[in-house]
Amino acid sequence: MRAAIYHSPGSITVEDRPTPKAGPGEIRIRPSAVSLCASDVRVFKGEKYALPGVIPGHEIAGVVDEVGEGVTGITEGQRVMVNPIVACNRCLFCLTGRRNRCSERTTLGYDLDGGFAEYMLVPESIVSMGHVIPVPDSIPLWLASITEPSACTLASLELCGVRAGTSMAIIGAGPMGMLHLLLGKALGAGPIIVIEPFEERRMIAKRWGADLVLDPEADDVKAAVRAETGGLGADAVVVSVGVASLVGPALDLARPQAVVNLFAGFPKGGAPVPFDPNLVHYSEVLLTGSQNATTDQYRRTLRLLGQTAHIEEVITNRYGLESAPEAYSARLAMSGLKSLVEFPGVGD
Ligand SMILES: [Zn+2]
Ligand SMILES: [Zn+2]
Repeated sequence: MRAAIYHSPGSITVEDRPTPKAGPGEIRIRPSAVSLCASDVRVFKGEKYALPGVIPGHEIAGVVDEVGEGVTGITEGQRVMVNPIVACNRCLFCLTGRRNRCSERTTLGYDLDGGFAEYMLVPESIVSMGHVIPVPDSIPLWLASITEPSACTLASLELCGVRAGTSMAIIGAGPMGMLHLLLGKALGAGPIIVIEPFEERRMIAKRWGADLVLDPEADDVKAAVRAETGGLGADAVVVSVGVASLVGPALDLARPQAVVNLFAGFPKGGAPVPFDPNLVHYSEVLLTGSQNATTDQYRRTLRLLGQTAHIEEVITNRYGLESAPEAYSARLAMSGLKSLVEFPGVGD
């Protein structure tokens, strides 16, 4: 089979690899669409670890192609998406439903082979944990491939307590900032304020329903957020760009007792950033981070995707497997929003 292989930062090639076979407890999937994640790009840039020689791709939707001995509840031909987390099922986090926090966690696409290949073996642990999730007929597989980033977004929104009428400030309108806008709107949040230096992205955010868009290089962001939120500041502030110096300004946009979520990962080894601790103490702001999502959030996200306006427009760049390396270059050049690697003829 053909597969994209990660060798080292800056080096991804498409090569021949032996086609895997599903052993006992395992299944094999033919990926139909696999979306490229900001964290894949961070691996490519050398900011995040992945095993040299691994097949990247953890945002996977496809069709079950082979079912190993002893597997129940999954059938050949079934349309599925995969929660890429392998967890121990014994630690405190696993026992309390938070496998995404598992201390022994490994992930498809980083530690184990992922979806940028014609065939993907799903390990027994993922199958038995119920991390192979059926895709409703109403959701096309190319859309289901963004379940993972959308579930991470739902986890962030739920951590921030977002519900109907929650005011939000989103810093950064890249793919993940845009998912916060769209899923936030689907949950009824508002007003939603998007802060983004690139005009093109501000215009898209406005068109997709942001109540206010601000240019951090030209606007008085703090004053504008206060004016839009009755003078108090936002109920929830999400930092969705990996710039550590934005932590202080983010705290400044929050109302007392708001949640400020550092959603983006930050480059390793960066200098520590100062912020005024009194913004946390006197305002009782909850400063937190979030990454990945629970299995329950994956399941509910698949339903939410079908009710989210403009969601399909988040996917702007599409590539065949042989051009997978170009998907990385497009993200590095900040061209468009989400990139998909598609496998024509598989599934829908
Ligand atoms: Zn991802
Ligand atoms: Zn665990």
